[in-house]
Amino acid sequence: MAVRIDRDTFLQRALERFGHRYSYEEIDYRSYRTPVKIRCLDHPVRLIVITPERHLQTTGGCKYCLRRYRQQAMEAAVTVAAGPGDRQPGAAQKPGSAQQPGAAQPSAQAEVSATATRSW
Ligand SMILES: [Zn+2]
Repeated sequence: MAVRIDRDTFLQRALERFGHRYSYEEIDYRSYRTPVKIRCLDHPVRLIVITPERHLQTTGGCKYCLRRYRQQAMEAAVTVAAGPGDRQPGAAQKPGSAQQPGAAQPSAQAEVSATATRSW
């Protein structure tokens, strides 16, 4: 059962997602998967031809907005990596070093309990 999304539903969802970033005045809505023409209000030089489905699933379809969005995401990623990044090398070593304590523990415990039994 596919949910049928008509023009009003699409416009409502688009408005919830993007607010007034895009203009939908020029769309000729046929179906959820038929491309429509959307205009980005920040970059009105170029019409966006995109299906309503993809418009709602992506950042909207404006490649200029997408580029800006990716730059922001990259800057955010760099900022995150610069912060707690110092601890990551230590965390990366864990899988290798974890094997040694795990292997050493049983014998160490056996020795301790053996000594304890003998001394008593
Ligand atoms: Zn844009």
